[in-house]
Amino acid sequence: MNNKKALKLLVVDDEPFMRTVVEKILSFLGYYSVDVVSNGQEALGHIARANPSYDVMICDLNMPDMDGVELMRCAGEEGFDGAVILLSGEDQRMLDATLDLARAFHLHVLGALQKPLKPVVLGELLDNYVPRRLVKDKAVSVAPIAIAEMKEALASAFVKELTLVYQPKIEVKTGDIVGMESLARWHHQTRGVLGPQAFIPLAEKFGLIDDVSKQLYRKALQQTAEWLSQGFDLKCSINFCINSFSSPGFADYLVSTAAELGVPPERIILEITETQVMVNMLNCLEVVMRLRLKKFNLSIDDFGTGNSSLTQLKKIPFNELKLDHYFVRSANHHMAAQVILESSVELGKKLGMTLVAEGVETREDWDMVEKIGCDIVQGYYCAKPLPAEEFSKLLRTWDGPHGQKIPAAVTTGERERLAKVAGLRV
Ligand code: C2E
Ligand code: CA
Repeated sequence: MNNKKALKLLVVDDEPFMRTVVEKILSFLGYYSVDVVSNGQEALGHIARANPSYDVMICDLNMPDMDGVELMRCAGEEGFDGAVILLSGEDQRMLDATLDLARAFHLHVLGALQKPLKPVVLGELLDNYVPRRLVKDKAVSVAPIAIAEMKEALASAFVKELTLVYQPKIEVKTGDIVGMESLARWHHQTRGVLGPQAFIPLAEKFGLIDDVSKQLYRKALQQTAEWLSQGFDLKCSINFCINSFSSPGFADYLVSTAAELGVPPERIILEITETQVMVNMLNCLEVVMRLRLKKFNLSIDDFGTGNSSLTQLKKIPFNELKLDHYFVRSANHHMAAQVILESSVELGKKLGMTLVAEGVETREDWDMVEKIGCDIVQGYYCAKPLPAEEFSKLLRTWDGPHGQKIPAAVTTGERERLAKVAGLRV
């Protein structure tokens, strides 16, 4: 296009203030053909009716009904052949992951910008715009394949590049490592190591989460079986999205994989966040009950964030409660956090649950959670999440949370004794 300022632009943002800001910035930059809408449905209507079609859609990622990712997908299906600029308050990692997806939809993505929006940066992105017009009919027929391809790419990338790190859980009474939480990492070919927040929500969104969770579960159990066979007395905690439990065959997979790999369900802790539990538990209650009956442990994660009451919790057969690290870390300095923490511990004790304090970073944090009666501690004070080899090393050299224990270098005799105690095949 010779006159770039004549680009036809569509701005989609649910916040009136942001819409005004973007409109003002575009006007300041000299763009005069700008339409502004407040949600994804409206945007799709505009895209369908536009003649000539839009050159660039500037789209907020976080919108209440149809969010930016869904809008991009639908726009792609409708044959939208303009370019996209994403705006978001999310951190850069999340934006980068979304950018990858948008490209996988075969959308022409100019970039992703963090709010607050800087006029210079938006101006530069628009300056770089080069039209990539496709014939509309062709785009329509291409789009569904693009989605299938995207899913495949994501799924196979996950298979190859998904790994786990393990963070020890330390028993307060003894100072021993009594378990580990497995945490997902994606070794992305170009972006390096991505944390779970960068891809678990996307896997959920694209219906891949059950497969991803199954793979991670299998990996975690293979590793656990190895450590158990070496005589370490451990339980493995694994994170799940609650909706997976209502997927047909999911719970059976958990049961049969545990049996196949020789890990007793008593050694497995299924973690679900409190907020998800409170919203979705009814759909999954039956399955979760079944798993509990089969002796799997159930843990309610990030406790304190979801306003659960004693009555609600009584209905659900959880046997571990993990206190959210925000409250743990704030409790030493904020009375309100301490009160929440203490009443959570009281609640958990009443229900006979094991109390785990997450995010313990200092000796001060440790002393505080010990004082209020937590059973198990997890956090950087003891160890960061570690790759399996390093966790193995830690198991052998662990000298207690405060460096006062004698490391348990495991001899063959000791290994057999521990295996017997744990009722495992050696
Ligand atoms: P979470 O279950 O609350 O996991 C604890 C998170 O806190 C981990 O972040 C861990 O690295 C971090 N952490 C541990 N100790 C400390 C500490 O002392 N200080 C601070 N600042 N942070 C600490 P990570 O690995 O980024 O995981 C984030 C969340 O992603 C997890 O939160 C969990 O909800 C989710 N997640 C992780 N792995 C999986 C998975 O395999 N499947 C599913 N569905 N979700 C997962
Ligand atoms: Ca967790």
